[in-house]
Amino acid sequence: ILGPEVTELENRLSKFAKVKHAVTCSSGTDALLIALMAKGVGPGDAIFTTPFSYFATAEVIALLGATPIFVDIDISTFNIDPVALKSAILALNENDISNKSLPNWSLKKLRGLNPKGIITVDLFGLPADHDRINAIADEHDLFVLEDAAQGFGGEVNGSCAGTLAEVGCTSFFPAKPLGCYGDGGALFTNDDDLASLFRSIRVHGRGVNKYENVRLGVTGRLDELQAAVLIPKLSIFPDELKSRQRVAASYQRLISSSNLDVITPKVPDGYLSSWAQYSLLASDQVERQKILSKLKKAGVPTMIYYSKPLHLQKALSYLGYKVGDFPFSEQVSERIFSIPMHPYLDENDISVIVEAMVH
Ligand SMILES: *Cc1c(COP(=O)(O)O)cnc(C)c1O
Repeated sequence: ILGPEVTELENRLSKFAKVKHAVTCSSGTDALLIALMAKGVGPGDAIFTTPFSYFATAEVIALLGATPIFVDIDISTFNIDPVALKSAILALNENDISNKSLPNWSLKKLRGLNPKGIITVDLFGLPADHDRINAIADEHDLFVLEDAAQGFGGEVNGSCAGTLAEVGCTSFFPAKPLGCYGDGGALFTNDDDLASLFRSIRVHGRGVNKYENVRLGVTGRLDELQAAVLIPKLSIFPDELKSRQRVAASYQRLISSSNLDVITPKVPDGYLSSWAQYSLLASDQVERQKILSKLKKAGVPTMIYYSKPLHLQKALSYLGYKVGDFPFSEQVSERIFSIPMHPYLDENDISVIVEAMVH
């Protein structure tokens, strides 16, 4: 645990991502938790985030006793909408309860919330619009944490996903673009003080030695075996990312020249997706089911990320959100589905998959 392979991996990760510090840890979720703990997030703090993500993004906020405040997505990128973000921040500052982003709480309870930060998510591998989000955060004195669990490997104008905000987190869960053989994760920052906090919190808030504890922390270490798996995988990661671009381009070409009534993912200018998932939008829930049945019959595995947006999850029902609060997230959850995406799909596999959807 935390031996030479881990150190070697951290050096290689910081070089790859062009960032001063890469601190590995036990999972993507723990990376998010460690980042929020380092930022001193706790009860009374409000953290703005997207309801269209994996549960962990909001879970870590709630685990620390802080309050997730959801902001709807931009339907063309599936990422948090900067315009809606700005109005949610203003609504909280002004206690404007007509804004659906605010929890359905009493005015008194809402007044107890202190806006503290934003967690962006690079959904399906496409980085969120950090240029606009970081500017909004600066204006309102909020920190930004980039959840790059899916985005790692992506870029915006040459800057790597995971380094597009003050702190970035990623996951090495096997299904992510850079996966290990179990659980693992990492944090990225250019801030020396934050990096040393991450290293301390990762091991029970250790001080100068292991048996001196200067703050509360977690069991957040990455073990040597996972680091040893990740080192050679990181060295072929650039080639794998190129191959993912090829697969995405082939899907795009074949799907758009077919008569399929689905919307293919758009990558804005200057952005590079890591293509953690290749997700299509069907025209509605019924059409989605028809396509999924055809794929199933042809033996093609599919997934729905995500069939229930976070504001409607039972575990977060205390926030009082209801159906209709985030229409784009809800609509997308009914129409989206993902088809196979990995660097080793060849042109024949790709055409078999597209054919299966057509017929
Ligand atoms: C996978 C994922 C996580 C959690 O990562 P784990 O390593 O599974 O803990 C967090 N956020 C997003 C967006 C993810 O996709």
